[in-house]
Order: sequence, then structure tokens, then C-alpha cells
Amino acid sequence: MSCEHPVTGQRFDSPVPAGTGWPGDPATPTTPVALTPDQVSSLARSVDSVAELDARISVCRACPRLVQWREAVATSGRRASFAEQPYWGRPGPGFGDPTAERLIVGLAPAANGTNRTGRMFTGDRSGDWLYAALFRAGYATQPDSWASGDGLELRGIRIVATVRCAPPANKPTLAEKAACAPWLDRDLELAAPRLRSVLALGSIAWDATLGAARRLGWAVPRPKPRFGHGVEVALTAPDGREVRLVGSYHVSQQNTFTGKLTEAMLDAAIARL
Ligand code: SF4
Repeated sequence: MSCEHPVTGQRFDSPVPAGTGWPGDPATPTTPVALTPDQVSSLARSVDSVAELDARISVCRACPRLVQWREAVATSGRRASFAEQPYWGRPGPGFGDPTAERLIVGLAPAANGTNRTGRMFTGDRSGDWLYAALFRAGYATQPDSWASGDGLELRGIRIVATVRCAPPANKPTLAEKAACAPWLDRDLELAAPRLRSVLALGSIAWDATLGAARRLGWAVPRPKPRFGHGVEVALTAPDGREVRLVGSYHVSQQNTFTGKLTEAMLDAAIARL
């Protein structure tokens, strides 16, 4: 199905083929595609730049259930209010400053958010909260974000996720989390030389970040620190530098609509980065 991009007016099919001009598409038609968890591991380990890591993530097809779901939403399961827009329908690559000293780790793309726009946390209520807070903190160039190509830039911070494909009911399986973990490991590893702090949005991102740090040989406190809003622990990278891990309740509507997470609480967590 070919529809008009909401910013550029170009027409794209859903899901969007790699390298066809979608704003922010990091891949080309020759970007290697992971078809199995083993291939995710080898392609993640062999990449030596954030740009190429994002490209490989954005074309990954290693989890059959998630590939089927993200593409079904992108074609036959589109939300009525977005029916005239093309859907990205691919994994969400990292977004933001590739040389950032701070990372934000989320859970997974939303079916009608990142899976539609191709950019992490863009085009849904969670993103409205997150980007408004990042704008208040001086990390984002505008307070809202509704489509790739809308001009938003992040400075000094990069957003990644535990699982890069939209999962049914927002619940990836253990196997899917494990399959996607090498992408996060490599994100952390490439950021490590300059990394100062990580904000984990929710307990799944918290556990995934601790797991990635352990696999990379970082010193992680034992017993495993428990997630909580505002909890902060120091991780020690192999070169001896400390990286601060800060926990925050996820910016999901479940938390923001109920008042479990307020703007002041999110601002305070971001300030600790
Ligand atoms: Fe690949 Fe991760 Fe998506 Fe699985 S969830 S298909 S490993 S990007």
C-alpha cells in the first residue's frame, strides 16, 4: 500500500523498503539482514559504528512472530486515524546523538508509534511525555515529535530500546528479548568510551541494561539492584570509569494518566543523568 509521508509528501509502501528515502532511514538495500538470533549476535559484534548498528537493526528479521506482527499492523492493522500514512513496519533503530554521553533505554516500539514513524518514541503519548521532558532539560530541540523528518534533534543523548520491534500487547517473549539483546549490548559497548549515565524506563529496561553490562564484563552490584523510580546505581566499565544507571517509571499512558509518573518525577530522573 502506497501512502504519503506526513512531512515530505513522498509516497512510500508499508512496510518501508530499506534505502528508499524515508527520513532518517539508516539502511541501504545492501545492509546485511539478520534472519536468526545467531546472525543478530554476529552482525552486532562485527559492527564498528553507531550509524551502521542502526542500519543493521532497522532491517532485522530474526523474530518471526514480531516480524509478522509489525508488518501486519503496517499493512492491514493500521489505526483509522493514520490510515492515510505509510507505516515504517520495521525495527526501531536508535535515535539521537551518536556521540552522546547519555543513553535512554526504553522497552519496545509502539505498534502505531515507532512502528508507524520509524523513530523511537515518536508519534504516541509516551513520546509526547518523553520529548517534552527532554526539551525542558535541554536535550531536545523541540518539545514534540510526530513524524520522522519533523526537525527534532537530540543533543547529548540517544534513545535505544530493549526490544526493537513492536510486540503484540507490548509484551515481548523471553526468547525475543534474548534474541534482541546483542543489539543493546553493542549500543552500550559503542557508547562506553564516553558514556556517563543511562536512564532505564521501566523494570524491563532496567534488567536489560544490567544484563548487557554484565555480558560486557562491567562490574555490576550484587545482589542485583532492584528497579524503582529514582533508584540509582553505579556500574563500572572495564576501564574503571563509573556509569550511573538511573531508574524511572516508564512514560506509558498507564503511568502518566494515573499520576504514577508525573512531569516533576520524570524531570528529576532526567536531571540525574
Ligand atoms: Fe530483530 Fe530485535 Fe526485531 Fe527480533 S525484536 S526481529 S532481534 S530487531
